[in-house]
Amino acid sequence: MGSCASGTQVPKSTLRSGSRNPPFSTRPDLNLNTPWARSRSSWREEEPVTKPSRKLVGKCFCGAVRYEVADEFVYAANCHCSNCRRTTGSAFKPFAGIEREKFRLTTGDDRLLIFGEESGHDAHCGHCGSLLYSVVREGAYVHVAMGTLVDDPSIRPTAHIFVGSKAKWFTVTDDLPQYKGHVT
Ligand SMILES: [Zn+2]
Ligand SMILES: [Zn+2]
Repeated sequence: MGSCASGTQVPKSTLRSGSRNPPFSTRPDLNLNTPWARSRSSWREEEPVTKPSRKLVGKCFCGAVRYEVADEFVYAANCHCSNCRRTTGSAFKPFAGIEREKFRLTTGDDRLLIFGEESGHDAHCGHCGSLLYSVVREGAYVHVAMGTLVDDPSIRPTAHIFVGSKAKWFTVTDDLPQYKGHVT
């Protein structure tokens, strides 16, 4: 799939470190109750607890599939590529990207219609056909089709991408930056 679904490029600075492992060995023979180990464990207790974030709900047209996603989207854009136009039947697809672990299906995971591979696919409701989200970037991120959100997210689309393959019958009328392909 030569489209945005193969992985939207985002600036490196917006990527978060995935590792939460403490920077010391976890060998069992070092987990002794020594003063050194105690100081390490008290250091770990001082680590900030992940603060609970606002949760957004989304669903398909018929309601068979529902999801919950943290209101912590990393980026959002309107994609004009031909795949997004066809999967949504629209001029473009507003989508918002987030780490996959912050997205969770709450109802109807057995009703999903998956189009694509495990590491990159579109997920539709198998009953009504709504495109709910895409798994992208080697399975690490989810692009939520913003039209399926029930709640209002904090983020707004900040760009038009793949304007190079935009439908001729549609004119972009806002002032958001436009990119021929991915954001550069
Ligand atoms: Zn449905
Ligand atoms: Zn697209």
